[in-house]
Amino acid sequence: MTVEKTLLDRSGSKCELCTSTSNLIVYNIPPNSDESAEQSILLCDTCLGQINNPESADENHWRCLNDSMWTPVPAVQVMAFRQLNTLKSEGWAQDLLEILYLEDDVKAWAESGMADDEDDSEEATLDSNGATLNAGDTVTLIKDLVVKGANFTAKRGTVVKNISLTSNPKHIEGRVNGTRIVLVSAFLKKA
Ligand SMILES: [Zn+2]
Repeated sequence: MTVEKTLLDRSGSKCELCTSTSNLIVYNIPPNSDESAEQSILLCDTCLGQINNPESADENHWRCLNDSMWTPVPAVQVMAFRQLNTLKSEGWAQDLLEILYLEDDVKAWAESGMADDEDDSEEATLDSNGATLNAGDTVTLIKDLVVKGANFTAKRGTVVKNISLTSNPKHIEGRVNGTRIVLVSAFLKKA
């Protein structure tokens, strides 16, 4: 069974944080996911976009954590804990954090990702010209790219709108031919 299938089963084909069913994506939990189902969660594009771009976060979207933090799945607990931490200036998020109980190893996992965010110097995602890419940007492909697993070639010149950043500064995600794919930042030009 693939990781995606396992996660679809585990979640009932819903975003594991907000239960949306739109545009579900397998998210490998940073910083050191082994890409197994245990270290990944299924996210909708709204959750993913806001996790990748905390400045754009809509705090009301994350009220969903009120329910999802009670999951028995450690990977989901980790992401709920981290999101609540990014929102802890909000009273309700602080209240939830206080009642959220994590096993020691799960808590260490959750915090390891957060510590990483703070002390590493936030490597920027750069395009082929060294311009910084941000979530929501529009980019153009500067070479033909064979899309692994999707069986098509994304042509040079293809415009990709509303990209998302990933935990890896060398990669972004965007929609090409209706398929959400990972693109190598160095083969893109900011439009
Ligand atoms: Zn979601």
